[in-house]
Amino acid sequence: MLLDAKTAVITGASRGIGRAVALALAREGAAVCLNYRGNESSARQTQAEVERLGGKAVLVQADISREDEVARLFHTAVSELGNVDILVNNAGVTLDRLVLRMKESDWNAVLSTNLTGAFLCCREAIRLMLKKKSGSIVNISSVVALTGNAGQCNYAAAKAGLVGLTKSLAQEVGGRGIRVNAVAPGLISTDMTKELPQEVRDRMIAATALKREGSPEEVADAVLFLASDLSRYITGQVIGVDGGLAHV
Ligand code: NAP
Repeated sequence: MLLDAKTAVITGASRGIGRAVALALAREGAAVCLNYRGNESSARQTQAEVERLGGKAVLVQADISREDEVARLFHTAVSELGNVDILVNNAGVTLDRLVLRMKESDWNAVLSTNLTGAFLCCREAIRLMLKKKSGSIVNISSVVALTGNAGQCNYAAAKAGLVGLTKSLAQEVGGRGIRVNAVAPGLISTDMTKELPQEVRDRMIAATALKREGSPEEVADAVLFLASDLSRYITGQVIGVDGGLAHV
């Protein structure tokens, strides 16, 4: 299997893309540490699905925007799984508003989870990976990091920040055998997008070369590739998993 004897921390693994990533990595042999923030019953469902595959899954409730909680997340991962070979920074939130209606708290809420949270998790993971001189980090960015999207200044800025974090960190730690990449999903069918008005969804699908939404499993397959040695000479890259979305 691709990830035999590997261990992975996946943030926001209770549902959506995070759950699909957890299952994809577990199916290839990784023991997984499943982080979530508030939705314990969904997180337990992900854990049960991993266990049904014969895998090992540890659940850790933690708000990744908080330094102390991220430290506890990684401490638990190491004490339960022994190490962290793979980190998938997937947890994310949206709080869409036009800028003139955006409060500073709306801005901070999105930046603190989507960007600061990823930074805090990268820092903890790198400390562990440096000791082993190996590791793979995959950050979940978004197509809007590159295209922008009206109503999502906070979200697009955070996701563009993740691209800068990915490319810079890849240069910092590449010489120590650690790779850092990102995926930039387009319109993926999850809780995050289910409230989108039908006209917005139709417009996005029309702008997508493959003329359909993507599934969490299709994002997870790209994450699996970047997490595994199949991508051993790839670092600092952003892979679009967007069905050929030209603009939002
Ligand atoms: P989702 O279904 O809304 O799930 C979000 C996940 O993030 C949940 O597991 C949630 O935990 C967790 N989370 C949120 N804030 C957190 C925090 N502060 N600490 C820890 N966990 C937190 O979202 P999704 O659609 O699967 O999105 C996953 C990632 O892909 C996000 O980064 C998103 O921005 C990105 N993305 C999604 C799309 C899309 O079309 N869906 C497109 C591009 C990029 P709880 O369940 O406990 O609340």
